[in-house]
Amino acid sequence: MGSNPIGAAIGMEDHLAATDIIGSAKKQGRTALNEVESKQILKQAGIKTTEIKLATSKEEAIAAANKLGLPAVLKIVSPDILHKSDIGGVKLNLNSENEVGKAYDEVMAAARKHQPKAKIEGVSVQPMARPATEVIIGMNKDEQFGPVLMFGLGGILVEVLKDVSFRIVPLTKRDAREMIREIKAYPVLEGYRGQEPADIETLENLLLKVSDFVEKHPDIKEMDLNPIFAYKDGAIAVDARIILES
Ligand code: ADP
Ligand code: MG
Repeated sequence: MGSNPIGAAIGMEDHLAATDIIGSAKKQGRTALNEVESKQILKQAGIKTTEIKLATSKEEAIAAANKLGLPAVLKIVSPDILHKSDIGGVKLNLNSENEVGKAYDEVMAAARKHQPKAKIEGVSVQPMARPATEVIIGMNKDEQFGPVLMFGLGGILVEVLKDVSFRIVPLTKRDAREMIREIKAYPVLEGYRGQEPADIETLENLLLKVSDFVEKHPDIKEMDLNPIFAYKDGAIAVDARIILES
């Protein structure tokens, strides 16, 4: 036993819980973890994510929103819908029970309309995080190099301009430093034209935590924290997706 038995015990529980979630998904023949499962696992790995609850009825969604605190965000939870907002499956800034209830119906209707065959697990409820500069951390496996992490700024900068950096897992501190600084949009993170600067040290640590996490879980094939809100103080993942090896 190490010098800190309590810490060791906590570490072990965390590991078990992540293995449990991965194990039960595999048993069900699923390779996609939903947002609720993905965030549970990441939270245990010390990666900050929004609090989140799965609701399977309108009443549950309202109760969850009250418990987590308004304003709330509702999102469709389905293994068949990977880009939730593309189909109208994300409702932001819900300020009352009424708005949460209405959003529940809208999100369900949108899913049925756009993807009638999708298996719907329910709706996730989470608190609305204060908007900030959006960054992305992704993991993919390269045939030759194994797990590779990607870093970039959210939205069109990644999708259209491919302004991203890559490093092979495990990352060194130096890798994390460089990854953030070598994207073209780095000045945005430093606080461009009065915009809130990002907490670069937190982002570096986040990259290292993700690298650690990926190294510990070889059964994870792909991962996306998209977006992470980067604040002056700290950062929080508001969306997360984990795909397992089949
Ligand atoms: P998608 O499956 O379309 O990627 P996201 O969960 O990323 O869905 O939600 C779409 C957008 O909504 C995000 O890029 C982010 O700007 C915003 N968003 C999502 N969750 C929250 C939240 N908890 N608080 C504030 N904004 C959020
Ligand atoms: Mg997203």
